[in-house]
Amino acid sequence: MEIKRIMVIGAGQMGSGIAQTAALAGFQTVLHDISFEFANKGLNTIKKSLSKFLEKGKITAEDMEATLGRLQLSDNLENAKNCDIVIEAASEKMEIKSQIFRTLDEVAPAHAILASNTSSLPITELAACTKRPTQVIGMHFMNPVPLMKLVEIIRGLATSDEVYQVIEDLAKQMGKVPVAVNDVPGFVSNRISQVMINEAIWCLYEGVGNPEGIDTIMKLGFNHPMGPLALADLIGLDTVLSILEIMHEGYGDPRYRPCPLLRKYVKAGWLGRKSGRGFYNYEG
Ligand code: NAD
Repeated sequence: MEIKRIMVIGAGQMGSGIAQTAALAGFQTVLHDISFEFANKGLNTIKKSLSKFLEKGKITAEDMEATLGRLQLSDNLENAKNCDIVIEAASEKMEIKSQIFRTLDEVAPAHAILASNTSSLPITELAACTKRPTQVIGMHFMNPVPLMKLVEIIRGLATSDEVYQVIEDLAKQMGKVPVAVNDVPGFVSNRISQVMINEAIWCLYEGVGNPEGIDTIMKLGFNHPMGPLALADLIGLDTVLSILEIMHEGYGDPRYRPCPLLRKYVKAGWLGRKSGRGFYNYEG
């Protein structure tokens, strides 16, 4: 099966990065969100990112123009009707994603693959929302998508070998390195990283260290490029909380219990970089 046209659902930090990477790799790409305004915000993020690539000499002015020319914005899921694959990157909530998958199953062509960029939700459960479970798969990109090489590929219980192969090839065409993992809450990347982030938040909550100290320990002591609290701010604290809750419920294991401080920050609207404030202050 040849992929020509890709739809990306959700124009937040992940969706805009996936759409940018797909369009730069030569695919016709539709970037969809609940409103045209949100989709346009995603397009502005893409323009800024491509401008940085241009400044650094990673792409030419022609590449940038051609990439933007391959991007189309959408606020209507009917636009999936002529796409070969849809990559869903909406907020990390089962009720939001399952509704999207149900609608996509109605509007996307019979051959289309429905992929999710979910960090932690079961692919098998999303597949069960459709009448095409053999064509549903997880395609978990890393943040920031234009820079990070890894894509975890997650097969649901019914995902076909053919669909797996198409997605592995697509990831490579997008310049990524695919790694196959099993369908469990959090897969591999978040099972490990979110426990570390949560533990860093517990350290802060219990007064063991301050944010700068905790992050410096992990950077200088363990060669992490970014400390866990700065990483949580980059991911989005609402997304971190959702992932931990999904893993906590999915495994029934207290090791995934979200720290109360994380809940407090999310309730306060301190979501990290995207809201201007999280463990660090990004305002101004
Ligand atoms: P985000 O908050 O930046 O963006 C989410 C976007 O989804 C928003 O623009 C929102 O308007 C849109 N949205 C919500 N409901 C929608 C709907 N019904 N239809 C269409 N669009 C809808 O979140 P994000 O960080 O981009 O995360 C998106 C997905 O990617 C989540 O599943 C998350 O777990 C996953 N993910 C996130 C990261 C990360 O580091 N943030 C990394 C890998 C995977």
